[in-house]
Amino acid sequence: MTAGAEIFDICVIGGGINGCGIARDAAGRGYSVCLAEMNDLASGTSSWSTKLIHGGLRYLEHYEFRLVREALQERELLWANAPHIIRPLRFVLPHHAGLRPTWMLRLGLFLYDHLGGRKLLPPARSLDLRRDPAGAPLQPAYTRGFEYSDCWVDDARMVALNARDAADRGAAIHTRTAVTAARRENDHWRIALRDRDSGAEREIAARLLVNAGGPWVDRVLALSGGAGDHRIRLVQGSHIVVPRLFDHDRCYIFQNSDGRVVFAIPYEGDYTLIGTTDRDYEGDPADAAITPEEIDYLCAAVSDYFRVPLRPDAIVWTYAGVRPLYDDGASSAQEATRDYVLHRDGGDAPGQPALVNIFGGKLTTYRRLAEAVLGHVEAVLGARGPAWTKVAPLPGGDFPVTGFEALAGRLRTEHPFLAEGHARRLARLYGTRALQLLGGAADAASLGRHFGADLYEAELRYLVAEEWAATAEDVLWRRTKLGLRLDEDQKAAVAEAVAAFGAGRSGRRAQ
Ligand code: FAD
Repeated sequence: MTAGAEIFDICVIGGGINGCGIARDAAGRGYSVCLAEMNDLASGTSSWSTKLIHGGLRYLEHYEFRLVREALQERELLWANAPHIIRPLRFVLPHHAGLRPTWMLRLGLFLYDHLGGRKLLPPARSLDLRRDPAGAPLQPAYTRGFEYSDCWVDDARMVALNARDAADRGAAIHTRTAVTAARRENDHWRIALRDRDSGAEREIAARLLVNAGGPWVDRVLALSGGAGDHRIRLVQGSHIVVPRLFDHDRCYIFQNSDGRVVFAIPYEGDYTLIGTTDRDYEGDPADAAITPEEIDYLCAAVSDYFRVPLRPDAIVWTYAGVRPLYDDGASSAQEATRDYVLHRDGGDAPGQPALVNIFGGKLTTYRRLAEAVLGHVEAVLGARGPAWTKVAPLPGGDFPVTGFEALAGRLRTEHPFLAEGHARRLARLYGTRALQLLGGAADAASLGRHFGADLYEAELRYLVAEEWAATAEDVLWRRTKLGLRLDEDQKAAVAEAVAAFGAGRSGRRAQ
């Protein structure tokens, strides 16, 4: 039908959490899948999040019970499937007499505990902040509070692991490959791809096209001949990272007088992550950057609670991302729904090519969103296999939810030269696949060149071969967060090595 073009059942545009989750689910059901990501995996919104697997306590106020319930159900399920990159986190909510009343917080937390089938995570409880260590960094006016459970996730790694699993199940994953046009031709789509590095162009064909372009969803729609129909509302959210502000492993959720909440989360051992903001955004999502007003807002928000005020000069890193929200006509950015909406165009008559557009969504609900997309895939292409991702570990996640310490201990027993922090970092990022990464290494020298912090050549080679890392940024800011710890010379050395390892590969194993 399409001379010279490789033919797939499904082409997914976008290598964020939604695109990779869909590619994984579809490949596991037996469809042939091609995914094209114009930059690196998770280089869009999916690595700029607050990194919470959560129901979203705040959304209860907007009566988003369906979303909160689904997200809460996903929480323990995702944790069980990825206990390396997801871990439970307790949230301390200091009571603020001038804001939400105690009865409202109690009711919200009761619902939060019971809406979503919580099994392993501990329930909410009241806190006496005069006695509890969580009260120590707070201003003395905060004497009472609450504590509840959610989970933390390494967002960028969740994307890479979904892509890895999709590829292991047969999907073709093409990073640094932009979709530049898509047109319907008889019973299929003809899709033009451009290699970002070489500029080389080629075409593939697919019967179903999935637009998982995140904040670029309207632009992708335009490429496929559809008009941007303004169902997307772009809302920027920014974060700051500062040296650690407190000495325990819980996180704070601070209520703000504008009705928003701001989190202060333990981050990468030595830091605190603070966010986020909500401001309507226009322009290319790739250009989003924190504004001075957002920095002031976040510093002021936490300074209302902590004894020691936070000054902007403490900031060591910032990042900003753009939420691709479904435009439900809400008046303010913070009130726009976080739920997802799918629109299918075509595929109703036999042999008619279809397009599925994704609007909105959250990291937390990506697996459910993928199942919903697969509902459309089945309607168009016919069912191939049952839903399967509910109980299916992500790569490296095949150990018990409570087994992280045992895994880190095993890495040290089998590789006694590893420092404790190094073993824990590898177990956190790679789970059981850390054993593959380490291979038969008998001493630090067998890990190859040392690049700074605890980054060695073996890890770089693994990331290039298995996880599509192609630049220093992919390694230092997405697959790991070692960018926080390496100096400029060390980063330059990583850049050279990644380029050399990538060039030296014959045939990309990762694809
Ligand atoms: P993206 O990750 O943006 O992926 C889309 C991809 O498509 C991009 O990588 C882009 O490069 C690619 N692309 C676009 N056009 C093309 C093309 N023509 N060809 C090829 N590729 C293309 N959710 C939670 O559950 N918990 C949280 O704590 C949380 N916090 C958040 C905080 C902030 C500040 C923000 C902004 C979002 C947060 N979210 C959170 C929401 C979550 O991050 C997003 O819903 C999710 O990451 C969106 O994923 P996506 O795959 O749709 O989009």
